[in-house]
Amino acid sequence: RSAAPAGGAVTPMMAQYMEIKALNAGYLLFYRMGDFYELFFEDAEIAARALGITLTKRGQHQGKDIPMCGVPVHAADDYLQKLIGLGHRVAVCEQLEDPAEAKKRGSKSVVRRDVTRLVTPATITEDKLLEPGENAYLLALARIRASGQMAYAFIDISTGEFRLGETAPERLLPDLTRIGPREIVVPEPLFHDPEFRPAFDLFGRAVSPHPAAIFDSATAPDRLAHYFGVSTLDGFGDFSRAELAAAAGALAYVEKTQVSERPALQRPQRESSARTLFIDPATRANLELERTLSGQRDGSLLKAIDRTATGPGARLLAGRLRAPLTDPQAIGERLDSVATFVADDLLGEGLRAQLKALPDMARALSRLSLNRGGPRDLLALREGLAVAGDVHQLLKSADLPAELAAARTALADAPADVSDALGTALADEVPLMARDGGFVRAGHHDELDQMRRLRDESRRVIASLQADYAAETGVRSLKIKHNNVLGYFIEVTAGNADALTGTDEARGRFIHRQTLASAMRFTTTELADLESRIANAAGRALEIELAVFEQLRALAVAHADPIREAAHALAVLDVSAALADLATSQGYCRPLVDDSRTFRIVAGRHPVVEQALRRQAADPFVANDCDLSPAEGADHGALWLLTGPNMGGKSTFLRQNAVIAILAQTGSFVPAGQAHIGVVDRLFSRVGASDDLARGRSTFMVEMVETAAILNQAGENALVILDEIGRGTATFDGLSIAWATIEYLHAHNRCRTLFATHFHELTALHEKLDRLANVTMRVKEWQGDVVFLHEVGHGAADRSYGVQVARLAGLPEAVVERARAVLDQLEAQNRDKGTASLIDDLPLFSAAPPQKKTVPKSAQSAIEAALADLSPDEMTPRTALEALYALKALA
Ligand code: ADP
Repeated sequence: RSAAPAGGAVTPMMAQYMEIKALNAGYLLFYRMGDFYELFFEDAEIAARALGITLTKRGQHQGKDIPMCGVPVHAADDYLQKLIGLGHRVAVCEQLEDPAEAKKRGSKSVVRRDVTRLVTPATITEDKLLEPGENAYLLALARIRASGQMAYAFIDISTGEFRLGETAPERLLPDLTRIGPREIVVPEPLFHDPEFRPAFDLFGRAVSPHPAAIFDSATAPDRLAHYFGVSTLDGFGDFSRAELAAAAGALAYVEKTQVSERPALQRPQRESSARTLFIDPATRANLELERTLSGQRDGSLLKAIDRTATGPGARLLAGRLRAPLTDPQAIGERLDSVATFVADDLLGEGLRAQLKALPDMARALSRLSLNRGGPRDLLALREGLAVAGDVHQLLKSADLPAELAAARTALADAPADVSDALGTALADEVPLMARDGGFVRAGHHDELDQMRRLRDESRRVIASLQADYAAETGVRSLKIKHNNVLGYFIEVTAGNADALTGTDEARGRFIHRQTLASAMRFTTTELADLESRIANAAGRALEIELAVFEQLRALAVAHADPIREAAHALAVLDVSAALADLATSQGYCRPLVDDSRTFRIVAGRHPVVEQALRRQAADPFVANDCDLSPAEGADHGALWLLTGPNMGGKSTFLRQNAVIAILAQTGSFVPAGQAHIGVVDRLFSRVGASDDLARGRSTFMVEMVETAAILNQAGENALVILDEIGRGTATFDGLSIAWATIEYLHAHNRCRTLFATHFHELTALHEKLDRLANVTMRVKEWQGDVVFLHEVGHGAADRSYGVQVARLAGLPEAVVERARAVLDQLEAQNRDKGTASLIDDLPLFSAAPPQKKTVPKSAQSAIEAALADLSPDEMTPRTALEALYALKALA
């Protein structure tokens, strides 16, 4: 490696580096130099810091030292993993020719190099860089300017999954949090649109802007058709213009990052928001579905219910939990699958035992299609297809419901050609890289066997030559050795050299090659002959192996669809058997899910809290009923107002009912004695206080924003969980807001609702609101202390036991005593002019929107009429802007 000259001159190599770097702005450039990837300038500084490796310098540029660091090629994956994990993107630049070739062009020539791959969080395929149980989605967004129509498309290139669907400005954030992409590719105009700033900010560095041209809906069908090698998209289903544009953007990004390779993707599948339970982002976070509020997987719902045996199964379960269904029939089919293994646990156990040996076929296939795969990926397919065969055998005569029967059919359709070919061609132990050779089974290829024999035989011949030469010369220490410069040679110590050079005969036979201080090296014509035979045989053997590899790879990729379907079928079976195992071991019941507005849970439990209590060997979880079903003859569900002391179990009860609805609609059995749930279309929760200080919102503001979203969006089939509304402000403010919120929910949203509060005054509402019922967390007072029973009973709590709870928490006794005295005083005053009289004094709440100004229509100008029709509280920034333009047009 020649150092760069000092001063202003730029070496040809640096010139090449800068050119490539300029074309890949935004990426750390891994610049291949021999056995290292080198990073320069700022890249070097970033990488050295991130990776904890030494920052050195190499020559100068414009009079300044060039900072440099490097990572060895053989360990590059580990470094890449770390950088990607930190949110960096990396451009891998390889040498495209042998340095010797560059030399031939002239001494100043630089080795040709180019970027062969962009490594980004969502375009990795190496097992080392991926979580087995998690998808790594890349998502593209598009908007049609004329209609405002929006859509997303997302791809997991490590499995080939490809889906798309429509979205809308107000649904964008919920959709993004549901899918949870690692990267979001956005057309420039959308990226700069202030309306979406908050959503994009939430995903930070994962969002990147791209030229609008790649999202062009007019050319999108051709791009898609071209990618999938079809002449028309007719067979793919109906897609909207926005969906096509998003799909084109996603494909363009895949093509850009993979440079010369094309992953084998599934045909895009359309998602419909009407078929999934809408869960808004705050609810998703509050219910800790996939992660706890502090970001951990341990303690999440998913972690508590995941008993899958395989990575693909874990991914499928996570995907299902993220998007529960709303169609009772589809839910019923999934429940039938679980019920099958609950009823026949031996079958489930047998299945799970077989699945333990299942490799990740989809990911192996994807690497093979990207030319990044090796013999172990082929082996994974062979073993996976073998498991598919075994599982099919196991299920052959079982009586299976629809979903499982379809899975069995997919297993029966697994390509036998591929299993047969892999079975006969592939050895049982194979190296990671094809170029290491030795993975083709002996007996598979005649010429290969012959070459290997020749190679092995020659090695034996060399050993016997050595013995012959030693006997012939009388030098017992004579050795035949090998190195890369001389090839095979005979070596004797300097003292013994005479034996090989002392006579004419010996000189004719042993040809001198090299003299070292302590040894002399020779060759013979026999040895040279043998050498070339060995080299030829080994080279030819590898050539044959690589051809076999390519053949098998092509065969597997050609059968990508049925292999993927078999892999998916195994994942479905895994999930069903895993949920059955969960149901059996944890005592879950099959929920009845239908089109009604019933919500009746008997003896429900919180899955995560229940398991935690069991682990701690604490008192068992106290099961509780919840019934929000419409009364006889009524259309709308009930509102339960839950009071009780802090630490009484209110939040747990609220969350458990939301979680039971989610689990039921995911197609899982639920932690309850009995459950009957009329499908919930939207689930909202405002639970716990989550500060959002990063966005400059106080706890109270977050609470109000979330409550506003609920009141504006919850319809008659929604389920709403509200915990301690109004807690973050002064008592009277808080009470008033909670009061009005309940009235609005009751009169306007009319959805099934659980409302927990520490404002006892609210319980008076039940006299006026016919669908409101008071329930309370039972407590027992015992010798001045409070004992939580964690039991939900009808009625209202008479007091909040705050002082007792404070005492339990270890507040100094003097403070507790003083607080009790203050409380007695306050309660005495309150008895005289209590808020309870509010219920008599306030007029009944009217859900109708506030009366507009009563200027007769005729007297209004057009602008006034238009103004009167606007309700600013319900507008998005975009609709507000549009309204402003409309008003301007009227002037
Ligand atoms: P609150 O919201 O009323 O302050 P939480 O729901 O946070 O109370 O519950 C407080 C603690 O009580 C929880 O950490 C949990 O360990 C325990 N707990 C709650 N519900 C139950 C229950 N049904 N059975 C047993 N323990 C419970």
